[in-house]
Amino acid sequence: MGVDTKSNAVVRKPAAHPNTWVFFGGDFARYNDVKLGLMTHALHYGTAVFEGIRAYWNEKKNQLFLLEAAAHYDRMHRSANVMRMRLPYSTEELVNFTVELLRRNEFKSDVYVRPLLYTSSEEIGVRLHNLDRGFFIYAIPFGNYVEIEGGIRCMVSSWRRVPDQALPARAKITGSYAQAALAKSEAVEGGFDEAIVLSVDGHVSEGSAENLFMLKDGAFITPPVTDDILEGVTRTLLMKVIKDELNLPVVERSIDRTELYTCEELLLCGTGAQISPVIEVDRRPVGNGKVGEFTQELQNIYFGAVRGDTPKYKDWTIPVY
Ligand code: PMP
Repeated sequence: MGVDTKSNAVVRKPAAHPNTWVFFGGDFARYNDVKLGLMTHALHYGTAVFEGIRAYWNEKKNQLFLLEAAAHYDRMHRSANVMRMRLPYSTEELVNFTVELLRRNEFKSDVYVRPLLYTSSEEIGVRLHNLDRGFFIYAIPFGNYVEIEGGIRCMVSSWRRVPDQALPARAKITGSYAQAALAKSEAVEGGFDEAIVLSVDGHVSEGSAENLFMLKDGAFITPPVTDDILEGVTRTLLMKVIKDELNLPVVERSIDRTELYTCEELLLCGTGAQISPVIEVDRRPVGNGKVGEFTQELQNIYFGAVRGDTPKYKDWTIPVY
């Protein structure tokens, strides 16, 4: 059952992936056989932490490559700690469950993996202590999350990024994605592709679900981890590639809004978004208004690496089959 947002009618919608294998409650189960109670704490109060991981299908190699799974599960342990939660498994165990889940589903396409640690107690009362937790992982075939070829048009959101003093952005907490949703819908319904969000003190923080890099005066600049960003796995990978392959310096420093209008190239990056060139901000062209040369090169290197085609970056991925 659900409510159709256009007609406002109550409708019965079938599960999108009823027979997909999921990891739930310490075992593998079919998506449709898992039930969560209406009173589940996390559903009401946003008391859950999660991850988004990708696996890339390589047609020529007939192989699925799981990308940076350990880095994501390490971050999940840190997110959990912020929320007074504990993951019941080590990073190594979680990576192994994920590989097993992908194998069981016999995926032969790009895949998105979503682990979630949530407060499962079915009771009323906002708090973090003395509550039960549940954990699951599901995985689904997944293409591009935002446009990655022609470049995207962004707006600087009127919504600010959640500050560390109120809701730590460095922890991937489900509740804080209400802020990201406000920003994303404002942008898309206003005719843009994506939102860029400022911190409460007015510096550029990140996209609604992406980190940001700009090229200016021969260096790639990205906001520091103290400007209310999620400490992105892709951000770390790109910092290395920019230094090692483009031979350009990477500078972590605060970015002013108007630097978005005056830089030479701009990109958003993330597991979902991958590398998305930004060609316009607030109706002003970025650089020459086309996909930047260095951004294009970064994309080429990134996609070679994540699909398991670059021996040098073999340690980014785990072959699933
Ligand atoms: N910022 C936010 C708010 C995000 O949701 C994401 C996606 N997880 C990112 C940045 C990019 O992080 P990552 O590269 O680890 O996916």
